[in-house]
Parts: sequence; structure tokens; C-alpha cells
Amino acid sequence: MTDLKTHLIDRIRRTGPLSVADYMAECLLHPRFGYYTTRDPLGAKGDFTTAPEISQMFGELIGLSLAQCWIDQGAPSAFILAEAGPGRGTLMADILRATRAVPGFHAAMQLHLIEASPTLRAAQAKALRDFTPQWHDQLSSVPANQPLFFVANEFFDALPIRQFVRDADGWREKRVIEQDKDLAFALAGPAPQEALTHRLEDTKGGDLVELCPAAPAIAADIGQRIAEHGGAALLIDYGDWRSLGDTLQALRNHERTDPLADPGQADLTAHVDFEAIAQAVPCKFTRLTGQGVFLERLGITPRAQSLAKGLQGAALDSLVQAHRRLTHPSEMGTLFKVLGLYPDGKTAPPGLEP
Ligand code: SAH
Repeated sequence: MTDLKTHLIDRIRRTGPLSVADYMAECLLHPRFGYYTTRDPLGAKGDFTTAPEISQMFGELIGLSLAQCWIDQGAPSAFILAEAGPGRGTLMADILRATRAVPGFHAAMQLHLIEASPTLRAAQAKALRDFTPQWHDQLSSVPANQPLFFVANEFFDALPIRQFVRDADGWREKRVIEQDKDLAFALAGPAPQEALTHRLEDTKGGDLVELCPAAPAIAADIGQRIAEHGGAALLIDYGDWRSLGDTLQALRNHERTDPLADPGQADLTAHVDFEAIAQAVPCKFTRLTGQGVFLERLGITPRAQSLAKGLQGAALDSLVQAHRRLTHPSEMGTLFKVLGLYPDGKTAPPGLEP
């Protein structure tokens, strides 16, 4: 039994069942036993691989899209470049390398990173040692007086979700209980859920829906800053416009496992409900676009061809493979999606449509 499982069973005995969101928050961010707090989970030796870890092309193209937004908005002389959940800092390092050649961009930028994990903060400091990022536990402490150019890849999918099953008399929340000295799922009694009123139209008895309480709140803050001061956001994640069904997933050593089996030892994520994010922002949002289409529009194929010129053998194969993984519909191309945020009256970020 993991230390975290002992802690959770103890907590349930003392204060009652946990919502799935409480359980997820403990598993991911418990200060001593949490999954992100205690390790670097990324890469071939870790539990999962993300787009920036697959190829530098991902971050380069994102950097150029954000820099083009900055130019389209008159190249403001002071702005905030921020990332939430920067992992190993790879995406931001690629963004900064690609934007080095954009006149004035680095001189105007102030770099802010939102990261809960001390282990990953250390990795980010190393990857970004040529810069002076400021770290934050939450977006709310990032200064809000300048244009905000914001990126997040696989951040929203790590935010805790609540799960509800519909029945005749309302919604029954799924909770984590103690059963025979182990953890199990159980349904609470039915209760009305105001936040789920819009789901009465597209669900029936027995359907499970998910709510991520933190996502709209964070999105509203990003959108408010962009509406007031300008800027743009690229939010990249797996999910869809509206999710239906149980999408809670545990990954360990690149394999799916039971989310209750080893709390704190496996990554826990859920599909992102982009509708909930878009409906929360006071600025403009783009059409939700597949990652493959987005990267193709930004020129990933010519970029791959140019990188390929100097390569042969295994290095060339791995570049071709990376291009495919990022863009192909059977890989990350359609499951992963991009939502852009931008100010009213301005151009949508390159690669995305209004
Ligand atoms: N964006 C990176 C890493 C994705 S993993 C990449 O694409 O490779 C999720 C990241 O979000 C990790 O850096 C994790 O520590 C961070 N994170 C998860 N929940 C968080 C929270 N509530 N607040 C701040 N950071 C969080």
C-alpha cells in the first residue's frame, strides 16, 4: 500500500468520502506524496510523453504564432509571456529560441511560470537558465497590468474533476470511499446541480458527466486580462467541446492502470471540456481546432523538411516519426485540440480561425 493510500483512508475515516476532485488533487499535488510534487513524470523513462518532448517543432511553431499575435497587436513594449504547467520547461525553451529573431520581442517580455511542483520548477530553471522567469503557484499572482501572451499544454487535463451520474431525481456524485481497508468508488445520494443544468438537454438516466471547477475560473482570469490589456492564449489539451462519459485516466509507465490502485504513483488526467472554458472567457475565442490542422497551418511540414536536410538514418526516421505523432489523426492530431483566446477587434492567433 502506498503512503498516500494510507493517508487517504485515514482522511476518509475522519472526514468522510472524497469527491473525485479531492482525490485527484491529493494524488497529483499532495505536498509529500503527490505525483507531480515528488517526480519528473515526463519522457521515455517516465509515465507519459507530451508534444514538446516529442519534437522542438511544436514549441517553435507555438512561439511564432504568439509572436505574430504580438506583432499584430502593435508590438507592445512591455508584455507578460506566461505558461501554466511548464513540465520540464521544454516548450518555453523552444518558444524562446524561435522568437529570439523577432526584433524587440525578448526585450519587451517578462517571463512568468505557473507551476505547483518543486521538482519540475527545478527542471524548468535548468532549461531556462539563460532567462529570469518568475514562478507562481497560481495565475492570480501574475501581474495583471500588461498584455498577456499565454500558453498551456496538457495543464487543464491535470486539474481535478468532479463526476456525476444522472438519475431520475437529479445527479449523484461519484465519490471515493473506504471499503475493506482499500479505496472504492460509490455514488452519493441524488441532489440538484445547478452547474449541470445545461447537461439535462443532452444526457439521459445513467449517463456520467464531468465538471472541472477550476478550469472556468482560470480561463476567466486569462480572458479578463486579454480583454483588458490585449494579448492571446493558446490552450492545448486532449478533450472535446463537451465531454460525456468517464474520462478519468491513470497512466503509469506509458500504460493505463486503475485510478484507485496506486494513488500518487500514476498520472491522473481527464478530458478537457473546452466548451466550459470558452463560455467562461470575456474575450474572443477561436474555433476549437485539431492539433494536426493547427500545426500544418503553421508550417510544420516545411519546418520538418528543413530540419531533415541535415539528417540521415535513425535521426531522420525519428524526425519523420515525430511529425507523424504530432499531426496524424490516429496519433495526437485530432484527439489533441487547440483553443485560442484573443481580444475583440484583433486578429485570431495564426493557425486558428475566429
Ligand atoms: N506542459 C508540459 C507538462 C504537462 S504535465 C508538457 O507539455 O510537457 C502537467 C504540468 O502541470 C506539470 O508541470 C505539473 O506539475 C503542472 N500542474 C499540474 N497541476 C497544477 C496546478 N494545479 N497548478 C500548477 N501546476 C500544475
